Amino acid sequence: MATRSKPRSLPAKNRNGAAEVPTPESVQNGVASDGGSKVPVAVPRAAVNAFVNETQYAPAPESADHVRLEKKYPLFIDGQWQEPSDGGWMKTINPATEATIAEVATAGQNDVERAVVAAREAQGKWARLPALERGKYLFRVARLIQERSRELAIIESMNGGKPIREARDVDLPIVAQHLFYHAGWADKLQYAFPGETPAPLGVVGQIIPWNFPLMMAAWKIAPALACGNTVVLKPAETTPLTAMKLAEIFQDAGLPEGVVNIINGGGSTGAALVNHAGLDKIAFTGSTEVGKGIMKALAGTGRQYTLELGGKAAHIIFEDAPLDEAVEGIVNGIFFNQGHVCCAGSRVLIQESVADVVVARLKRRLDTLIVGDPLDKNTDIGAINSREQLNRITTLVNAGIEEGACIYQPPQPLPSRGFYFAPTIFTETAQSHRIVQEEIFGPVVTIQTFRTPEEAIEKANNTRYGLSAGVWTDKGAKIFKTTSALRAGVVWANTFNRFDPSAPFGGYKESGVGREGGLQGLRSYLRFE
Ligand code: NDP
Repeated sequence: MATRSKPRSLPAKNRNGAAEVPTPESVQNGVASDGGSKVPVAVPRAAVNAFVNETQYAPAPESADHVRLEKKYPLFIDGQWQEPSDGGWMKTINPATEATIAEVATAGQNDVERAVVAAREAQGKWARLPALERGKYLFRVARLIQERSRELAIIESMNGGKPIREARDVDLPIVAQHLFYHAGWADKLQYAFPGETPAPLGVVGQIIPWNFPLMMAAWKIAPALACGNTVVLKPAETTPLTAMKLAEIFQDAGLPEGVVNIINGGGSTGAALVNHAGLDKIAFTGSTEVGKGIMKALAGTGRQYTLELGGKAAHIIFEDAPLDEAVEGIVNGIFFNQGHVCCAGSRVLIQESVADVVVARLKRRLDTLIVGDPLDKNTDIGAINSREQLNRITTLVNAGIEEGACIYQPPQPLPSRGFYFAPTIFTETAQSHRIVQEEIFGPVVTIQTFRTPEEAIEKANNTRYGLSAGVWTDKGAKIFKTTSALRAGVVWANTFNRFDPSAPFGGYKESGVGREGGLQGLRSYLRFE
């Protein structure tokens, strides 16, 4: 059987190709400075290197032979597969191989109109159903998703580029959780909002991105339906396929026709949905730029909106933190899903006294990350979602180098076909650098240092975003003091990227408006009479 080597651990290089200091050598053969105390390192680094170099992983590809995909997917309107009238067709590819997987119909203006009309016609009946019945449909959909989760995880990985391990162990369980959670609320809304009389908003247009296609669909559809609304959903152009599978599941679950309509298409389809006067709300997740445009388009129309936009989360590592765990937290914070995560911990702030040792350990950890075939169960970092996104990441990384930051990338080669980017660390960064200010949305992290908690908080809040943040320390009081000073919608302590359907998620400042999940998320799909 063919085998492949674990990445070799070569000396770190800076952007000029020279060996970079400090490297893990300072913690190799004797003792490491760890927050002031000397910690013995049991195994000499040379022995570790030799072991790593000799270790080989056999490929462990997930079998996709049981996955059923049609060659063409029309629009899903009024519970039926319908040909586009004024739209067209587009190919959808596998970003890991650039091979075409299927064709999907794109919706034109008339198609958007048909979908909105179908949703409107279905809404009254859906809202008048006993709430318990609405809940039963959601429970049924959740169970069908669980039953087909392996197939769905594979398609998510094939169409989006994310590692199968993440699609299987993170995305799909969260999708099911959101449906179960909101199914439970459907007949209990009067208890969720005691003393108030909640009623559905009506018909909701929902526009979702490509980083968590099925998860975002579940986050949007589950609360909307639980509250008695009907939906027109537009998936992202590059990741339509799991939404098409979801449409099949709605049919299998016997969901009444028109309750969920799914139309694919590009930005113009999204814009047509946003500008449709027949909608009562737009729920959007995506870039801040498009979110601002939606806000302008809806201003003064009386239509509601929630916007979940970009982020540039600070991930603060105090000197008293458990450093090995913090390094794992940094890796999970930025390299999960290739860094295509709005709440990614893309700005790491490390207390000066432990910065060298944390950076050294982080680089060492980077050398062990496997970049490659998303369907291989060994893979840590899969394919970048599209060529466009790869170009965007490359442009920003080049800007970081030109601005004088110091880059480190592990030396392992990338696959020759498909869209890949090596996990990247930037040290010697300044607050003014584009890579510190702008959302890169790729496997790229910037490192800054700080001396006092006040400086950490000031640097963390010095951004136009405010979606998430993370803090690592062993002092409970420091957790409370720091987290309450951070202007971010979600702050994790001694962990990162944890999600729960009962916890509201959303941002401050340019990271968005409104919350998804929990009671706050439910509220945004209701009006109160
Ligand atoms: P977009 O904001 O363009 O896409 C998000 C969704 O909005 C997609 O379904 C997209 O369709 C749709 N859309 C695009 N233009 C319009 C419009 N004018 N009106 C209504 N809907 C529209 O994000 P990109 O895919 O272009 O990614 C660009 C950057 O945005 C990333 O690099 C990242 O920084 C950020 N981003 C943030 C996300 C988050 O979770 N907060 C998610 C995705 C991106 P289509 O796919 O066809 O363009």
